[in-house]
Amino acid sequence: MYSPMPSTVPPSRAIYANRTLNMRAIKAIGYDMDYTLIHYKMEEWERRAYEHLRLRIADLGWPVDDLEFDPKLAVRGLIIDTELGNVVKTDRFGYVRKAFHGTSPLPFADQKAVYARELADLSQSRWVFLNTFFSISEACMFMQLVDIVDAGEGPRAVGYADLYRKVRENLDEAHMEGELKGEIAADPDAFVEVDPEVPLALLDQKASGKRLVLITNSEWPYTRDMMSYAFDRFLPPGQTWRSLFEIVLCAARKPAFFMNRMPLFSVDEPTGLLRPVPRLGKEETYAGGYAALLERHLGLFGDEILYVGDHLFADVHVTKNIQRWRTALVIRELEGEHEALEEFAPRQLELSSLMWEKTQKEQLMSEARIGVQRLRAGYGPMPKESEKELLSRCDAIREELAELDGRVSLLAREAGGLQNEHWGVLMRAGNDKSNLARQVERYADVYMSRVSNFLHHTPFGYIRAPRGSLPHDPLPG
Ligand code: IMP
Ligand code: MG
Repeated sequence: MYSPMPSTVPPSRAIYANRTLNMRAIKAIGYDMDYTLIHYKMEEWERRAYEHLRLRIADLGWPVDDLEFDPKLAVRGLIIDTELGNVVKTDRFGYVRKAFHGTSPLPFADQKAVYARELADLSQSRWVFLNTFFSISEACMFMQLVDIVDAGEGPRAVGYADLYRKVRENLDEAHMEGELKGEIAADPDAFVEVDPEVPLALLDQKASGKRLVLITNSEWPYTRDMMSYAFDRFLPPGQTWRSLFEIVLCAARKPAFFMNRMPLFSVDEPTGLLRPVPRLGKEETYAGGYAALLERHLGLFGDEILYVGDHLFADVHVTKNIQRWRTALVIRELEGEHEALEEFAPRQLELSSLMWEKTQKEQLMSEARIGVQRLRAGYGPMPKESEKELLSRCDAIREELAELDGRVSLLAREAGGLQNEHWGVLMRAGNDKSNLARQVERYADVYMSRVSNFLHHTPFGYIRAPRGSLPHDPLPG
């Protein structure tokens, strides 16, 4: 069968296209830094962020001394229901498929009672989408504090939405004040998972004539320290990470960077001092600014620019919606998910064949029932069998179906707990696409597990989308 992927690429390291991307037509590539060019050991980074957050929450009078970060409690792509103190996973339409209240799963009957008529609508402030790995500590703390509120152990009566705001504000401050970043930069070995192939992928792109730009929300001193740690030793002698990029834009305040006009400052690299400037110059480092200013400086617009980032909203959604740049999303979890799905493949086959059997049996039972109905009411073509025969066939099939359902639900439960026992894989919700998968499809032209996957798709190639499937497509073979 035709595959849009070069055959030499291991599937977990491929780049997947929703919309075909001709790399030749891309003149400039913008890169995000955190979790894009630099991958962190998520558990370590988030545990440290969580600790800063916990101390701040303790200062507000909450009994959080014994709380510990649980990196498995939440995953990217979940949605916080700030009104009800829940965390949910929805399918692509926004229907809730799994829910937790605090740190406990919401029983299915309760979930149905609460969400049967409620769609998670991300345009409302009630719902908060977990866009990045930086959201994991926030979700974990919120879930644990909901338990404390429910037990009546909070410092005072507080609603879940207020509680969420407290968590958000305090994590925001922890990220912005220097202490947390100082700890990361002081011991990068403990926090960064270095990928020596990323600098090579960027060298290929630069040497082929692409203009590279770094656009990060991190401040200059942190950007400088982290980029030089992750890049310099892997570059040819005499080169530093800085020489890869024509322009470096720090403290970019994405998503506002793509939406609003914001003041621009030039950064004095040695001292970090900022000076307001009206426009971008050559080969310099800046803080702030906005996308249209960068386009003007580069003399490039819209689909001539590719932006690569890990934040579904700030890096990809608004970039596509407002600037119409080409977009690439980095989803590191794909690697582990690919492995898990591959291992599960034989049982997935078994599950699919059980489902096929179930469908056949259900059809036979429905036909018998319609026969009984017509016999009783005396209309339409009459069945050959008697009512008694039809009814006893129904009973027999019902028993077979009950036995089948037992086997299906065991396998389905196993499939739903792949990669994360509570939430399953990122891109699926049951049999359907997850909300995250739907957003990836809408806003990311291509997606990949890490930036070095560009080594397999050179700056000269097409990254082709497969033919999209539709429910009514004829079955192969
Ligand atoms: P980027 O991914 O390179 O754009 O940078 C992300 C930056 O945003 C990092 O410096 C993070 O510390 C910072 N960041 C992540 N989450 C938050 C937050 O909730 N508030 C403020 N800064 C954040
Ligand atoms: Mg990032």
